[in-house]
Amino acid sequence: PNTQYELLRRRIGSNTQEFWYFISTELQNLRNQFGDIAPDMRQSIDHILSLGAEHKTSLIHDVKELAESDGYSTWRELEANDLSNIVQSRLKYIQNPPDCKSAKKLVCNLNKGCGYGCQLHHVVYCFMVAYGTERTLILKSKGWRYNKGGWDSIFQPISDTCTDIAGESGSNWPGTKDTQVITLPIIDSISPRPPYLPLSVPEDLAPRLIRLHGDPIVWWVGQFLKYLLRPQEKTSAFLQEAMSNIGFKRPIVGVHVRRTDKVGTEAAFHSIDEYMHAVNEYYDQLELKQPVEKRRVYLATDDPKVIQEAYSKYPHYEILADTTISKSAAVSTRYSESSLNGIIVDIHMLSMSDYLVCTFSSQVCRVAYEIMQNYYPDASDKFRSLDDIYYYGGQNPHNRVAVLAHDGHNYGELSMQPGDLIGVAGNHWNGYSKGKNLRTKQIGLYPSFKVKDKVEIAKFPAYSDVGN
Ligand code: GDP
Repeated sequence: PNTQYELLRRRIGSNTQEFWYFISTELQNLRNQFGDIAPDMRQSIDHILSLGAEHKTSLIHDVKELAESDGYSTWRELEANDLSNIVQSRLKYIQNPPDCKSAKKLVCNLNKGCGYGCQLHHVVYCFMVAYGTERTLILKSKGWRYNKGGWDSIFQPISDTCTDIAGESGSNWPGTKDTQVITLPIIDSISPRPPYLPLSVPEDLAPRLIRLHGDPIVWWVGQFLKYLLRPQEKTSAFLQEAMSNIGFKRPIVGVHVRRTDKVGTEAAFHSIDEYMHAVNEYYDQLELKQPVEKRRVYLATDDPKVIQEAYSKYPHYEILADTTISKSAAVSTRYSESSLNGIIVDIHMLSMSDYLVCTFSSQVCRVAYEIMQNYYPDASDKFRSLDDIYYYGGQNPHNRVAVLAHDGHNYGELSMQPGDLIGVAGNHWNGYSKGKNLRTKQIGLYPSFKVKDKVEIAKFPAYSDVGN
């Protein structure tokens, strides 16, 4: 297919959703405002809302059908495989230099002082810089807070030939081209910032990625996780066992409810009902395609009370959860050795689910979403976030490009001309996003459908020796 066709197909799908976010929110506002004084009006608004939802579901169904009947499904599968093979063989290549004594190395310390998801993102960032500088990544992980034995106790070593940190010369980032061993700080303090940081994808793969995938950076991050998270045999057996104990079965929606230390500090509280509302919308959609016997959910959370609440409030749903591992509410256990199995199981199940409902403010859910990209040619639309849009901690500014003009001055909205760059802060999931017009410096809300994402592209090494 040509790129324009793929972009349009995805855009029709996501803007149908945006259209409905807008109309349904506005109607609900009208109902709340006038429903009490005009009961007739309340009734007709409710009718519009319910039939409107059917309209939307039907339209989205048709766009999904289009992707299955346009004859390009096989191409999408092959293209995704091919691109993944290219990246995986390049990662294998830099990680396995023939002579470790002379190899250029980049050292990364796994023990960033944060949770499991945050640490995985830290390693991915290090790996991206290693890829960008053609260095072998050396992971320091002894004494890891989640497993004293280190990374290799859980996952396969990231190199078969080169794990020795030693070298003739060494320095902190940036060093020079000739420094043999360079040590990286955390992404928040790296200076100077190399061009290889998210949200950039490599120029040599970009045209193919833009055609294949709705959010190339998520795919790109997923490739690093694919390499990193190759499980040790016993990890793999443990995950298999957990899946069968829990009774993991499709269709299934992965729900992640992050509470405890996150709420009120880095994220707002969201009730279980908000998550289940999104679960229902997913299943209403699926039912146009196939009968659904039971609405099944995999529920992951750091707060065991949430699981009890879900069981009692939603008895008609099949709610699967990992209750075998005790999840104490104490922060000290959440960031300690006893919590590793729990979080590994939860992230695995979430990533294996057909759809994710969560808060993207949590790195747990973002990691699951990134890993999920490895199971489909394009899983960029298989989520509903109750708060943030997708981002990568420490990323460079996220820009969008206006494709339609907007005159917002009568409504206090952001005005824009086609071609304007809009720095995006977030989506309010009501038809509007918040952003800054980089030309006019104005900050405000704008209709989400009037922009398109700008894919950031950077020059990375070509890896022409790897034979792709
Ligand atoms: P964030 O703080 O949510 O952005 O994600 P982090 O992964 O950086 O830190 C949160 C930590 O809390 C995780 O690493 C887990 O140890 C724990 N946690 C959060 N959510 C869950 C969950 O759904 N299941 C389990 N088992 N642990 C969780």
